Amino acid sequence: MINKKMEQLGKVRSVIRELFEYGKKRKAEIGEDNVFDFSLGNPSVPAPDCVNETIRALTEEMSSLQLHGYSSAQGDAGVRKAIADYLNKEHGESFTADSIYMTVGAAASLTICLNALVCEGDEVVAFAPFFPEYRVFSESAGAKFVALAPTEDFQVDEAAFAKAINQNTKAVIVNSPNNPSGVVLTEESIKALCRVLKNKSEEYGHPIYLITDEPYRELVYDDVKVPFITKYYDNCLVCYSFSKSLSIPGERIGYIAVSPKMDCERDVYAAICGAGRALGYVCAPCMFQFVAARCLGQTADVSVYKHNRDLLYNALCDYGYKCIKPDGAFYLFLKTPEDDASAFCENAKKKELLVVPSDSFGCPGYVRISYCVSTKQIENALPAFKALAEEYGLK
Ligand code: PLP
Repeated sequence: MINKKMEQLGKVRSVIRELFEYGKKRKAEIGEDNVFDFSLGNPSVPAPDCVNETIRALTEEMSSLQLHGYSSAQGDAGVRKAIADYLNKEHGESFTADSIYMTVGAAASLTICLNALVCEGDEVVAFAPFFPEYRVFSESAGAKFVALAPTEDFQVDEAAFAKAINQNTKAVIVNSPNNPSGVVLTEESIKALCRVLKNKSEEYGHPIYLITDEPYRELVYDDVKVPFITKYYDNCLVCYSFSKSLSIPGERIGYIAVSPKMDCERDVYAAICGAGRALGYVCAPCMFQFVAARCLGQTADVSVYKHNRDLLYNALCDYGYKCIKPDGAFYLFLKTPEDDASAFCENAKKKELLVVPSDSFGCPGYVRISYCVSTKQIENALPAFKALAEEYGLK
């Protein structure tokens, strides 16, 4: 007998992966340029030059044994110090090397935090729309996953949020800029969220942890600012990844930053080291720890995503679709003109448009369009979006 839950997870591909596989098959049938695949969040802009330059420099400066060997389980001390110093400079914080734990990307940052915190009977809350893996990660850490219904603008409704918190709530996950909506939480929303968490922690006599999932922190457009949450709440764990900011998702590198103001901060950090150990993360990839440390503050060319966003958003609004203008990440969340998002996706598929129905994001009635694709793909896909809008009589 094997673990049936794991067997099920392995057998049932996510809707996103399912679509991506369909897209590959369809491209083989009718040609690469005739399928408009907006399913995956795989960066389409190359890594900035500093990534390859640093790799070259490291291979000359360091011995192969140093560069490709194990680091300390929590990550190289110099790398962790560089990250702490960078965060302090950027956000006026007081992290030290011992606040930072290097991980294999945001997914691992999240699973490690959840396994470090969750005890039997605990609940983990997330705001819809949410990254579908939150449910998988929370449940496999042993928590009950609680999805909070979305508000109209995808910001925080303080009263509804307060109602979702109870004696068993251990942690709340927030993701801003958000996958799938592209929405950035306002400072007002963050203050409301933190007010509830402080009051409820006091009421129930134990900390409720705030886990912020931040792989898209630097992917913001115009003058939008992403508030740094440790300033507003002490019991906060920042889950960061270089996957999107440096366009290196395959290299698997990120970190957890534990707020230095957290209650029993040393114990929480120890639990993070323990969870990393129990999950079998020996250490994060050593060479990419060094690369990340030397490329702090650099990003891939975000202006390409902004151009794609503007092109797509303006055209879709013009065709009569309804969507919130995304301020960050590289996703656009479009309200489907019929209630059944999957039915809309099937119709879109007939025009070779591959978009993701929103049900698994906990927010029915939308589709996610990943615009981390070539601008040419968007230009070529626009007539199909227009024809689809006309079929639904949008204008
Ligand atoms: N969190 C969110 C919201 C994401 O969109 C993703 C990836 O798309 C992840 C976490 C996982 O990121 P990583 O590649 O760093 O593990």
